[in-house]
Amino acid sequence: MKQITIISGKGGTGKTTLVASFAALAKNTVIADCDVDAPDLHLLLHPEIVKREEFKGLKVAAIDKSKCIECGICEAACRFHAISDNASGVDARDGDFFTGVNASGVDARDGDFFTGVNASGVDARDGDFFTGVNASGVDARDGDFFTGVNASGVDARDGDFFTGVNASGVDARDGDFFTGVTKSGYAVNPARCEGCGVCVFVCDQDAIILTERVSGYAFISKTKYGTMAHAQLNIAEEASGKLVTVVRNNSQRVAEEEGSDLILIDGSPGIGCPVIASLTGVDLALVVTEPTMSGLHDLARILDVTQHFGIASVVCINKYDINEANSRRITGFCQERGVMIVRNIPYDPVVTEAMVAAMPVVEFSDGAVSDAIREIWASIQ
Ligand code: SF4
Ligand code: SF4
Repeated sequence: MKQITIISGKGGTGKTTLVASFAALAKNTVIADCDVDAPDLHLLLHPEIVKREEFKGLKVAAIDKSKCIECGICEAACRFHAISDNASGVDARDGDFFTGVNASGVDARDGDFFTGVNASGVDARDGDFFTGVNASGVDARDGDFFTGVNASGVDARDGDFFTGVNASGVDARDGDFFTGVTKSGYAVNPARCEGCGVCVFVCDQDAIILTERVSGYAFISKTKYGTMAHAQLNIAEEASGKLVTVVRNNSQRVAEEEGSDLILIDGSPGIGCPVIASLTGVDLALVVTEPTMSGLHDLARILDVTQHFGIASVVCINKYDINEANSRRITGFCQERGVMIVRNIPYDPVVTEAMVAAMPVVEFSDGAVSDAIREIWASIQ
């Protein structure tokens, strides 16, 4: 079984346009979209998902407040600033984590969740909702409405009236009342946590554990061109190289089950970990570049990667005719490096029209671009 990866030194060179057309031209192939940070091949191939699995990438720290003595050692040790004792929590409605300088909550009138610089609430006298620079409310002892520089209110548990520098209230999760500069106990912001485990190491109260979290999803889908393995990483998640490996493994398993001769891989752009995961063990890398100086620079970097890993590579210059001087520079560079240019592709607005129609360009048009792509396909398959 042959594996071909189509890559580029950066995004936007036309890599996915080529992969979609190759998928339309290929027979008995499995398609793998390894651009898991920004997948877009599905827009052209219209996959129908038949299997979806959770991807658990990095771990995330969690603090057990019943064990925490609030020494602050973990906050100081976390170089990603993921731990703080500012007001923070999980929005029970959507699971989003919030942190802020002050209190936050749900507007009981419309269910909107608010976070902000200061506390907000409903004025019980007229039902108006207030937000502002500072908390305000009704002093239950005398009915006076107060606004001011700082939050104030009645502690519902003991009737004492409080004022303070910042917002205060009852932590709905544990019933604890908090006042002060929004101290709510030490908590981990999962959006910042890299799962490095340093906080677990430094906490002598054993109050922190690392837990698994879902970082994205891997899919197996049916398309009219063959089975497709693809994935989607959640926003702000890392570990895309690991998810690319999941996609690669899925594509290989499906290819074996279906007796496919070929796996066509849409690689990640750049030269980082997901790119290396897209390239590992493939038979050929087709590097797509564009006739710009940055295109030449990125081409040099990606060829360094493929040559380092001993992967046979060929090049195609997309839209070569928009700057023929640069195309000649790239051609000369490839000759010096001993890398073959298979065939260049001319500029044609029909490529954009095919994208708008959400179709592979070889199915959309029979012009010069489609001819070039067919020739490239014939020479690499
Ligand atoms: S979690 Fe551990 S290190 Fe962090 S503040 Fe609490 S006791 Fe200290
Ligand atoms: S696991 Fe690492 S990044 Fe996450 S909170 Fe702990 S020290 Fe910070």
